[in-house]
Amino acid sequence: MSHSQTAQPLAIGVDVGGTAIKTLLVDAQLRPLHSLTAATDTTSSGATYASIVQAIEQTLASAGYATAQVCAIGLGVPGQNDAQAGIVRLAVNLHWQDFPLTARLTDHFGVPCFLDKDLYMATLGAFRFDNPTRTRNLAYVAIGTGLAAGIILDGALLRGPHGIAGELGHVIVEPSGAPCNCGVRGCLETIVSATGAVRLAREAIARGDVTSLRDRAPLTARAVYAAAAQGDGVAVAIVDRIGAELGRALRTVVMCYDVEEIVLGGGVTQAGEQFLRPVLDEWERQRRRAALARKVLRPEMVRLADPTRNMGAWGAAAVALERVMG
Ligand SMILES: [Zn+2]
Repeated sequence: MSHSQTAQPLAIGVDVGGTAIKTLLVDAQLRPLHSLTAATDTTSSGATYASIVQAIEQTLASAGYATAQVCAIGLGVPGQNDAQAGIVRLAVNLHWQDFPLTARLTDHFGVPCFLDKDLYMATLGAFRFDNPTRTRNLAYVAIGTGLAAGIILDGALLRGPHGIAGELGHVIVEPSGAPCNCGVRGCLETIVSATGAVRLAREAIARGDVTSLRDRAPLTARAVYAAAAQGDGVAVAIVDRIGAELGRALRTVVMCYDVEEIVLGGGVTQAGEQFLRPVLDEWERQRRRAALARKVLRPEMVRLADPTRNMGAWGAAAVALERVMG
């Protein structure tokens, strides 16, 4: 062996979203080297693909590395995927149907590429990189425009034969409630999501409730949480309701899976304590009432994801590296 410096193999994790692509370049020890966020051009199937290629190339160029130094690329993609075959079966927002994503990227970059559902990549990211108690039983709940839970039991990700395991957002909590995208009424995500927060705000305004939300344009989940932080009573009631509903759903997660840690991530959780407090308030109400709740619903089990890490990109980078390094 010569003493000349051997180039370290690098890996890239990519979190592909309908509005943004987030990348993370890591070295062989999973140390972060560079990351970026780029807008997703979803005007066509080809445009979405080109956005990903561009984001990866830009990540390498900005960090001063060559494509030849990369040994693997991992991607978290929303929608239905065949992870084994590397094919995106259906991702409506990305205009992909039976899109051979990993084959295309391998042709372009000359390295093995791996894809999985974005939720699963983020769950693995939280399990690996945001797990101070080193538990082997963890739930990662992503709350954005919708809601889904990734479950890790005894260190293994729960997928189910159809990749449906953890679709908690479509558990019906209010049978005569608002219509859900999935076709039924009152799914959890019609209340606990950015979409749910905005809907509840619009309903309050339509009822004639006195609230500063009337003047918020655009009316977003962020605006609802900001108004609640400023003491707007209607906004506080919405935020409390979302928290209580999520608290009950997390009780279900604990009862079904016996997880020891619940990590809450996704856009809506950026409201921080404003988001978390009503969830824990619901657990506290239950704990005051019942011995079982006091035993199983321990407040320290629930926390917000580390906001400085994009769990999806971290999980994807780790999966890519592990698949090629063994
Ligand atoms: Zn639904």
